[in-house]
This record gives sequence, structure tokens and C-alpha cells, in this order.
Amino acid sequence: MSLSAERKPHAVFTPYPIQGHINPLFRLAKLLHLRGFHITFVHTEYNHKRLIHSSGPEALHDGLADFHFQTIPDGIPSTDADAPRDLLAIDKSVKENLLLPFRDLLARLHDSATAGLVPPVTCLISDAALTFTIEVAQELALPIVLFPPASACSLLSILHCLTLLDKGLLPLKDESYLTNGYLHEKVDSIPGMKNFILKDLHDFTKVTDQNALVEFLNVTAENVKRASAIVLNTFDELESDVLNALSSMFPALYSIGPFASFLNQSPQNHFTTLGSSLWKEETECLEWLESKEPKSVVYVNFGSITVMSPEKLLEFAWGLANSNRPFLWIIRPDLVVGGSVILSSEFVNETSDRGLIVSWCPQEQVLNHPSIGGFLTHCGWNSTIESICAGVPMLCWPFFADQPRNCRNICDDWGIGIKIDTNVKREEVEKQVNELIRGEKGKEMRQKAMELKKKAEEASKPGGSSYMNLDKVIEEVFLKTK
Ligand code: UDP
Repeated sequence: MSLSAERKPHAVFTPYPIQGHINPLFRLAKLLHLRGFHITFVHTEYNHKRLIHSSGPEALHDGLADFHFQTIPDGIPSTDADAPRDLLAIDKSVKENLLLPFRDLLARLHDSATAGLVPPVTCLISDAALTFTIEVAQELALPIVLFPPASACSLLSILHCLTLLDKGLLPLKDESYLTNGYLHEKVDSIPGMKNFILKDLHDFTKVTDQNALVEFLNVTAENVKRASAIVLNTFDELESDVLNALSSMFPALYSIGPFASFLNQSPQNHFTTLGSSLWKEETECLEWLESKEPKSVVYVNFGSITVMSPEKLLEFAWGLANSNRPFLWIIRPDLVVGGSVILSSEFVNETSDRGLIVSWCPQEQVLNHPSIGGFLTHCGWNSTIESICAGVPMLCWPFFADQPRNCRNICDDWGIGIKIDTNVKREEVEKQVNELIRGEKGKEMRQKAMELKKKAEEASKPGGSSYMNLDKVIEEVFLKTK
């Protein structure tokens, strides 16, 4: 389905302003642009500056008609792209500083529409963790579609956590409650979730306290109830039971992913320079991959938020070195807690002929490179779904939030990953890297990952489940007020 110019709908996209939330919403914006939408994509000032610094002004100007960026002030002082981010300050600014500028932006867009410069705004598409967008949508009587950048399983587990809160089983009094069987005894299973372990639901214990958990769960669940519709970057064939359970709670729920698979297959994918990377991508790693054998390289990346102690970093380093396999390792400037990364000259000498370390990369391109044999990941949902789209099996070292839950799906339900113990040891890394790249289990997992990749492509082709769901949400929600 594509839309004629005269009835062009105008969607305003607002991501929660961190990398793992911006990327998928940006892809969805591209997807709707390809379906004939006029797009306004909103960045905070802080991220706008980071984008320009890391990706250049062309990341925000592709010469495309009908794909515009807007910036709203967030009150966060700008820093250079490599400086550590203050995630708490970002969260505080989301809660306190963005409502008024967003309301002003919508008023300006209304004026521009009256002057015939842009089509009238027809719909807001917002990260599910934002509340100010819902308030503005209600003031203006606009439909609002919420996007949680997580799996269906993760959304269902958030909602289940709320039931546990109501029953008084959460918040936990201390961490020992995670291990002493207290929850297993008291909590019923969740419909639609196999192999349910409460400990995997949402682990916030590493970076924040239980009050923050409660607040996050409440905000997300309240927001979801107020949405006109919910869209998810997943597909029916991957999470059918959970999606059925969720649909019975929220009829206006649409699984329309993987976005990456849609875009890769689109014959008119006309985006050239537009980008969303907040770090500078070191693209020379793609050339380095050219020199490696097919499916021989282990790609190591823990995403944009995970941190680890220097001791754990060393365990990974020596595990990789001792495996004797080629590796591409992305070490963000702020990956290691309490200081910069120091890897000994012994490690560097040992691995210089087969290891490359850079600070940020174009992950999708890396994952789709023929030399990649496996992905050592923290199991963020974007990394998980991007790995599936590339047919790449995983070693899983989940850090927090929904990542333990994603790890359970990857390893136990889909059979495309092996978990590495939280208390990582070099011997285990060495053994599992070898298993992943050359072992029997690795072979089996690669085959299953390739099968899922195919299913993802089928889902996002004309006639596929996600393709039809996208048609439906456009018809039933985005165009409803027209
Ligand atoms: N990413 C990237 N280059 C990197 C590291 C990450 O492009 O070197 C992208 C990755 O492709 C994904 C996002 O950043 O789209 C990370 O999201 P994810 O949900 O995996 O993890 P988070 O960063 O939210 O923990």
C-alpha cells in the first residue's frame, strides 16, 4: 500500500533520547517514509550535537523531500561525543524538561501546516517510556502510537511485574529474594511464556534501585493503557504465544518487525546519508573483515550502556586471545567502570595478527558481513533482532533490564545462543568462542539462526505477517482521522 501525495499523512517521531531507543524508531520512520508519509523526527539538542559531531551534518540532510528533523532543548550541557554520558541527567531531563518544548514544536508545525508548508500532523509515534508525548497527543486529540523498543516477551513481563507489585511481591526487600526461592513459590506462571524464571523478568539491580524499577514499570504500563496502538519490532513467527497473550490484553497491538529486514528488502530504499549514530563509526573495520575467512570472526559488542569492571574486561580479553580465533571487539570509551581501558602489550602482541579493537562500528553492516561467524553480545533487543536478521548465532552475556530475558529466549527457546556466566572467566570464553565458530553446537545454532533470518524476511515481504500488520496499523490507526 502506498499513499497518494494529496492525502500524505504526517507522523511525528519522538524517541527516548538514547542510542538503543533512537535506532529502531529511526528505522520505522524510514519505513513509513517509504510508504508515503511525511516524517518529522525529533532529537534533543544534546543528541543533535552528538549526531553532528559523530556522523556529520549530512546525517540530518539527505535532500529528501518530506523527511525533516526538529530539535527540542533538553537543558543538558553539550559534550564531545566520546565523553561519558550522564544517563540519570538524560532521564531527568526527559521527565522535567521536554513537555513545554514539545508542545511548542507541535504549535509551530500547526502554523507551518496552516501556511501550507507541511501537511497537518496526523499522528504521533513515541517511545513507550515517554509520557509528555501522550499528554500533548491528548491535548491535540491526535492518535498516539507507542513503541517499546523491546521484545513482546519483555513487554508482557513488564505488565506481569505490575501484577506482582499489586500482590505485594515486588519490590524485593533485597537481592537475596532473587535466589532464595521466595518468588518461585509465590508467583503463578505467565500465560504465553515458556520457561519462565522471575529472576529474568527485568533486572535493574545492577544500575539502580528498586524504586526506579517500580517507577519505570508503572510509567510504561500506564502509558501503554493510554496509547491508540502499540507497535513492536518483532514478528509473529518469533514470539507467537506471547503476542497472542498480549493481543488479548491490547487488541490494538501490531508486530511489524524486524524493521531492518523490511528496509534491506525494499527495492526503493532511497536513504543514502541519513543516520542516527551518536558515536563516530569506525568503518575501516569493514575493510579489515574483508581479509578474513568466511564465518571465522567473532564480533564482540556490548551495546551503548553496558559497563564492566577492568577485571571482567581482562577475562574477555584473554578468553578471546586464547581461543586463537579472529575477533572484532568494540570497546566504547566508557565501557570500563572507573577508568580507561588498559590492555597489556603482551595481549596486543599476541593478538595483533587476528584481533581488531575499535570504539564504535556500523553494527548492522558488520553483522551482515560474510566473515562474521558469531556475535558475543549483551543481548539488547536491537542487537538480538539485528543478529537474527543477519542469521548470526550468539554468545550471551546479559547485563541488565530486559537482557536476561532476551538471553533466555535466544538460548532456550530459539536455540541460537550459549550463555556466558555473569561472573565471566577466560576459560569459558575461550571454550565457547571455539564452540560458536567451529563446534557442532555452533553449526547447529548457525543453521537455526539462518532459518529465523529467512522467517524474518518472509514476515516482512508482501503477504508476510509483519507486512500485513503494517498495512493494518496504517489503515486502522495512522489514517483513521483523515
Ligand atoms: N550499535 C552500533 N554500533 C556499535 C554498537 C551498537 O551501531 O558499535 C547499535 C546497534 O546496532 C543497536 C544499538 O546500537 O541498534 C544498541 O541497541 P541494543 O538494544 O542492542 O543495546 P543498548 O545499547 O540499548 O544496550
